[in-house]
Amino acid sequence: MKLNYLMPVRILMGENCLFAERQLLAQLGKKALIVTGSNSARICGAYNDAVKALEANGQLHVLYDKVMANPTDICVYEAGIKAKTEGCDFILGCGGGSPMDAAKAAAVLAVNDISKEELFGAAFDRALPLALIPTTAGTGSETTPYSILTDTTGSADKTPMKRSVNSPLLFPRFAFLDAGYTKRLNRNTTINTAIDALTHAVEGMLCLRANYLSDMLAKDAITMIMDCMEDLLAFPAENPTAFPVKKREKLLLASSIAGMVIAQTGTALPHSMGYLPTINWGTDHGRANGLFMKSFLSWCREKEQGSTDRRIPALAAALGMEPERFFDMLELLLEPREKAAETELQAWSKLPMKNAANTYIKPEQEDIARIFRESLG
Ligand code: NAP
Ligand code: ZN
Repeated sequence: MKLNYLMPVRILMGENCLFAERQLLAQLGKKALIVTGSNSARICGAYNDAVKALEANGQLHVLYDKVMANPTDICVYEAGIKAKTEGCDFILGCGGGSPMDAAKAAAVLAVNDISKEELFGAAFDRALPLALIPTTAGTGSETTPYSILTDTTGSADKTPMKRSVNSPLLFPRFAFLDAGYTKRLNRNTTINTAIDALTHAVEGMLCLRANYLSDMLAKDAITMIMDCMEDLLAFPAENPTAFPVKKREKLLLASSIAGMVIAQTGTALPHSMGYLPTINWGTDHGRANGLFMKSFLSWCREKEQGSTDRRIPALAAALGMEPERFFDMLELLLEPREKAAETELQAWSKLPMKNAANTYIKPEQEDIARIFRESLG
């Protein structure tokens, strides 16, 4: 058996864990740049708790609160420059995947001279230390070494595209998981982020780099998320706080565990496809991946027949049901589905094959076209 497993994040979980464990932040330096989105970090209480913890430690802090969804390279340079000019010793990212990913990039840009054209694929050997506080339960960015950004400059025709910065230096030192921050997440964000975590675990099992440990974590994350499925289906849209806190906790932990999975395995075909509706239509990241799950898994099941590498039975066991029943549940969470125009389907089907290279069954261009058409046609 071959294994190569790295997960250097110290995870603290529990109500008020940030304040209770604030001495950990004291190890990171004298001054923090807190990186957040525009509103929710304040509203959910995470920003206030971060300030309280830093001030109780006698640490200074400045704020960068302009992170948008799918953060751009422009935004993370701004944050990196702020950390540098303010003489910050560490970065505290607080929010959903977007602020956490921006915090990671800022940690790199604060201490490296990297031009915008070189950001994706640049070699660097240092970054400011990071602590992350997730306020959505889905991306698992707090346990991955990736910062997923919108590249506004890199592609030949200047069409924005999602690209990643990837380095073990992007693992935070500490992740503080307090489900209390997620209790006001509305129906859409709760469901879309839960789907994101689920797709991380599912795709992780279907990646070339899946291994014993990543599968073990993925199965557990899938079981935990499926245990929340009935509550997600019955989400009290008028009153998000009525969604059971125990399930919020479960989703938050499952999301971090699913992050540990993709930290090892990377993601498979649906994540490569999901960037297209996100960039072109603004579809939420988790939803965008979920849209392709049914067709992708059906294709995997068909292709693996007769192969020695059959992974769908283990996945069905983790889901606790046959794929068809799972597809029905997922459909209820996703409906109504978006439809793509014929021109979009044709253009998107030319997805670069290198983006699909990590899936355990190598798709051909026509397979990708089929999955796009079945999902969005
Ligand atoms: P997000 O873009 O971070 O946040 C979505 C929305 O939820 C924003 O409007 C945000 O408000 C709001 N929000 C956040 N926390 C909230 C709370 N506690 N209560 C109420 N509203 C809240 O969405 P996300 O799905 O978490 O992150 C998606 C990003 O993560 C994508 O860019 C994706 O590519 C990336 N991603 C990264 C990884 C990784 O390994 N690094 C993995 C998967 C996905 P504010 O704008 O005011 O904050
Ligand atoms: Zn994702």
